[in-house]
Amino acid sequence: MQPETLALHYANYQDKNAAAVVPPIYLSTTYERDENYELPAGYLYTRAGNPNRQQLEQALATLEGGQEAVAFASGQAATMTFFQCLKPGDHVLLPDDAYYGTPSLLQDFFVAWGLTFSKVDTTKIEEVENAIRPETKVIWLETPSNPQLKVSDLAAITTLAKKYNIITVCDNTWATPLLQRPLDLGCDVVMHSTTKYLGGHSDVLGGALIFKSKSELSERARQLQTLGGAAPSPFDCWLVTRGIKTLAVRMRQQAANAQRLAEFLEGHAAVDKVHYPGLPTHAGYEVSQRQMTGGGAMLSVQVKGGAEEALHLIKKLQLFTAATSLGGVESLIEHRASVEGPDTLTPKNLLRISVGLEHADDLIDDLTQALAGL
Ligand code: PLP
Repeated sequence: MQPETLALHYANYQDKNAAAVVPPIYLSTTYERDENYELPAGYLYTRAGNPNRQQLEQALATLEGGQEAVAFASGQAATMTFFQCLKPGDHVLLPDDAYYGTPSLLQDFFVAWGLTFSKVDTTKIEEVENAIRPETKVIWLETPSNPQLKVSDLAAITTLAKKYNIITVCDNTWATPLLQRPLDLGCDVVMHSTTKYLGGHSDVLGGALIFKSKSELSERARQLQTLGGAAPSPFDCWLVTRGIKTLAVRMRQQAANAQRLAEFLEGHAAVDKVHYPGLPTHAGYEVSQRQMTGGGAMLSVQVKGGAEEALHLIKKLQLFTAATSLGGVESLIEHRASVEGPDTLTPKNLLRISVGLEHADDLIDDLTQALAGL
C-alpha cells in the first residue's frame, strides 16, 4: 500500500460502541477489571497504555516500516529516552549540524551519567569512519539537518555502522516518512518530533522512536515510556493521528512551494546562499535524489550582510510569521543564531524558513518586497 492509504487506514478506527468514524478520545486514566479480575481490553492505567496512543504508535510504525513505535510527550523526550537506553561508557557520534537540543541534552545531562559524544561531518563517510572508537555504540543522524540542510548518505553510513556493530538512529522529523524511509535504508531506529509535520498544525507537542525490529532496545524504550512516564496525553495522540491523515497532501504541496521559493531566492541579488536539497547546486543534491522523494519543505537562506540584514528582512515580511518551530501549514521564519546562543556555529546571516501552504506566488511576492530594501 502507498503512504496515503496507509496513513488513512491506520489512523482510522473501528469504534465498537457507537460506530463513530473518527476515534473517540479516551481520557480515562484507569480501566475496570471484569468478574474474573481480568482487563477486558488489555488496558490497565493510561501511563502503561491507552487506545489513542496505541493507534498513533501503530500508524507511525506502519508509515516508517518498523515493527515497533513508542510515542512520547515531545521530540526531546524521545531523544532523551533513546540516550537513557545506553550504558555508561558508551560513545555517541553526532552530526556537526543537527537540532541544537540533541547535543545539548548529551552535554548538559548525559555526560554526567557517563556517556561521551563527538561531532563529525556525517556528509563525509571517511570522516565518520575515522571518528569511530572502540566504545562507539551509536551513530545519530539527522538528514536533511537543522538548520543547514546537510544531506547524509543513509545507506552508506548504515553499511559502515553494521561493519562495526554500531546502532544507527535517524531523526526523520524534517523529511517525514513521506519523503524518506530511513529504516528501509538500513537504520535501526527513527526518531521524530511529531510536533512538526506529523501533527502538521503547530498545535501539539509530541515525539516518537520507531524501531526496525522488536529487540531489547525497543523493550527498554517501552519500559522507559511506561515507567519513566514521559508519555503523550490521549488528546495529543489523537491530534497527531489526525495530522497524519493529511500528511501526504500537505507535505507534497509544501515541498513544491519550498522548491519554488528556493529557486527564486537562489537567483536574487540580495542573497548569498540558499540551502535546499532540491537545488542541483546543493552539495547533497545527488544523495537526496537517491534517498528522498522530494527536497522537503524546509530551507535556509543566507542574505548578503550579517545578523542586522537578516533581522531586517524578517521585520519587513508580511506573510511569514517570525516564530520558532516548523512543519505547520503556515510559513514561519527564524533567525537561528539568535535562538541557539553565543556558541552556535550557525552563520549570523542565516534565516530558516518553514514553508507553508500559502500560494507560492504570494510568498514570492512577499519575499520580493522585503528583499528590495536590503
Ligand atoms: N529534532 C528536530 C529536527 C527538531 O527540529 C526538533 C524541534 O525543533 C526536535 C528534534 C525537538 O522536538 P520537540 O520540540 O518536539 O521536543
